[in-house]
Amino acid sequence: ILRPRRASAADAVRPTRAEINLAALRHNLRVVERHAGRAKIWAVLKADGYGHGASAVARTLERAGVGGFCVALLEEGIDLRKAGIAAPILVMGGYYGGAHAEVLAHRLTPVVYDGAQLEAFARLVRAGPTGRTGQTGQSGQPSGPIDVHVKVDTGMARLGVTMDQLPAFADRLRATRELHVRGLMTHLAQGDALLPEETQEQIRLFEQATALLASRGIAPEVRHAANSAAILRPDIALADARFDAVRPGVALFGVPPLLVSDAPVSDGLLPNGLDDGAGLPVSSELRPVMRVRSEIVDVRDLPVGAKVGYGALWRAPRPSRIATIAMGYADGLSRQLSNKGHILVRGKRAPIVGAVSMDMVMIDVTEHAGVSVRDEAVVLGAQEGPLGKDVILAQEIAEHAGTIAWEVLTSISRRVPRFYREP
Ligand SMILES: *Cc1c(COP(=O)(O)O)cnc(C)c1O
Repeated sequence: ILRPRRASAADAVRPTRAEINLAALRHNLRVVERHAGRAKIWAVLKADGYGHGASAVARTLERAGVGGFCVALLEEGIDLRKAGIAAPILVMGGYYGGAHAEVLAHRLTPVVYDGAQLEAFARLVRAGPTGRTGQTGQSGQPSGPIDVHVKVDTGMARLGVTMDQLPAFADRLRATRELHVRGLMTHLAQGDALLPEETQEQIRLFEQATALLASRGIAPEVRHAANSAAILRPDIALADARFDAVRPGVALFGVPPLLVSDAPVSDGLLPNGLDDGAGLPVSSELRPVMRVRSEIVDVRDLPVGAKVGYGALWRAPRPSRIATIAMGYADGLSRQLSNKGHILVRGKRAPIVGAVSMDMVMIDVTEHAGVSVRDEAVVLGAQEGPLGKDVILAQEIAEHAGTIAWEVLTSISRRVPRFYREP
């Protein structure tokens, strides 16, 4: 709603925008496919495709051959159908608040994990297509059983049938003829951990859950567990986590998940001898998809001691040239970046100075010869200019802001128009 609707980059009044590189998206899909082996790709496009615009991303990925999509919310699934996506769409979040009929009306595949959901969907199937939607002629649903995916909790403690509840739940599934258990899924809590033990334990429980369903005559055709980290990590042992389908999110957008350690660091060394607690990138083949750029809207020269921004969080230690950029925290540039991190101007980093404000941020361009109003300022992504060539990755911003790249991407707000390019 807040997003300015403009047909092209040239129409944008404010020069702040996110450029989405669809060729990079397709490249990342190929990388993920290579790591996924025989498993099908079910692209995770929650939160508006990790901030990239779910419709355009989904259309591109569908044309490039992904097997299906996963979203967190019913609303997100409906948006993809409205964008013309025909592939299967799995609604993972599952809290429908009574909107089960809408799930079916839009031919979305629900994830189920409690008895009330089974009952609600079964009732809709019994009511038939018209009874289901209340809008005759719209659904086009077959009157037979509907496909569902069952989610089991193997260690995430978020959603899913617990291993304790599973026997009773499986009995109930078997008795619910209106539903066909097409998929079985779980979610890995530590797919990015340096050591694979916890993930291996989750996989062991997932196999146990599979066997338990089999004992009740339920044999899901599609089992899936792996997120980006689990797909891309090099450990051979985790090839088992790929099953029939994988659910990559962040990797498609060019962010390599890190292998991180939560084990106590002893003598400054991690268990495997690595000395860097920050993590180990699992793949360097990925290309960032989003580039966020704005422009310099003001340049001023300040004397030593001059104060910059709200709260005077920065004072000039020397005569300084300060540029104002037309992007602030309401656009998704975290206020945590106050006095931290960089923005690229003329191909070279300029440090952020003072507090990030709602619509603007200031940078120190004292070392940037020839800087002027209307120069491009790159907040995220690469820039080449007269002073050099550099790149600011989502991971770097995340580190400065005390968060993860996932949050950096999904924080770019709806006020920043997205423009799609095919280089
Ligand atoms: C977000 C999510 C994913 C994708 O995670 P990435 O780390 O972005 O690859 C996969 N499965 C579930 C259930 C999720 O919520």
